[in-house]
Amino acid sequence: RETILQVQDLKKHFPVKDGMLFSKPSRFVKAVDGVSFDVFKGETLGIVGESGCGKSTMARLITQLIRPTAGSVLFKGKDLVTLSEQEMKKERKSIQMIFQNPYASLDPRKTVEQLIMEPLLIHGVGTKLEQKKRVKELLEVVGLSEYHAQRYPHEFSGGQRQRINIARALTLNPDLVICDESVSALDVSIQAQVINLLKDLQSQFQLTYMFISHDLNVVRYISDRIAVMYLGRVVELGTYEEIYRSPQHPYTRALLSAVPKESPFEEKQQIILSGDVPSPMNPPSGCHFHKRCPYATEACKTDSPVLRDYQNGHMVACHLAGEI
Ligand code: SF4
Ligand code: MG
Repeated sequence: RETILQVQDLKKHFPVKDGMLFSKPSRFVKAVDGVSFDVFKGETLGIVGESGCGKSTMARLITQLIRPTAGSVLFKGKDLVTLSEQEMKKERKSIQMIFQNPYASLDPRKTVEQLIMEPLLIHGVGTKLEQKKRVKELLEVVGLSEYHAQRYPHEFSGGQRQRINIARALTLNPDLVICDESVSALDVSIQAQVINLLKDLQSQFQLTYMFISHDLNVVRYISDRIAVMYLGRVVELGTYEEIYRSPQHPYTRALLSAVPKESPFEEKQQIILSGDVPSPMNPPSGCHFHKRCPYATEACKTDSPVLRDYQNGHMVACHLAGEI
């Protein structure tokens, strides 16, 4: 399979200012702490984890909206981390993001046409006539119509606004679209509609998705593979079947056991996570999960498990992978 994106040992450590104004920061929030994975062309890679685990920071590092402390982001073989802002602007045509809040992400003073046209203007693509034609095309593609072009965002429902955001993201024919909690603010029935739309668009335009969500129920409907994050690290990565049918990491199992059962016949024992979610400011030594893990050994307190191949590409970061 063709790899479109390779993230290698990506880190973002935010300095915490404490004490004197000019003193060097002595503490860091390790929002993203050594993350590596590949994204294959045409797939949807789901990224799940509790809020504060570094999912959104990672998305912003990939698009270079924030610059990493270390690591590389190879997009079609080119390391985005080394690019200047000017060079990065060109790459942003091919990598688009769709954010969570369909209310805040659209400028209320602009018409739908202006909003969808904006990326074309920024990148100087097409004549006025071609731009208008493109907007009309995109409105139809996302299930709206040209009659909506002259309206303003407040005239639309949350689901429709997210359709407008999707149209905007597709304006420049991207290869990779990163959805960060893109349906989380919507009602469940509307979530399903938007996810189905995203799936249709994926096959229609050969899109690759990274789909970030705290909600395992949402991620399961769209993802081919899933990466589970915990405190700035990927702890497990596998296909949909591997993660949902045979999760190996104790954290993945705990997350899944908290998801409501699909049918009353399915016996699932809920694993209650003990302990508070530790802060990324002071992540525990060794395995970040050891304070909440029912299987933790002495070694887990000091040795950091690396994400390694457990079986045919199913990756697990746990000293006891396969033994639990
Ligand atoms: Fe639990 Fe140890 Fe595995 Fe971490 S490495 S998940 S503490 S068993
Ligand atoms: Mg987030």
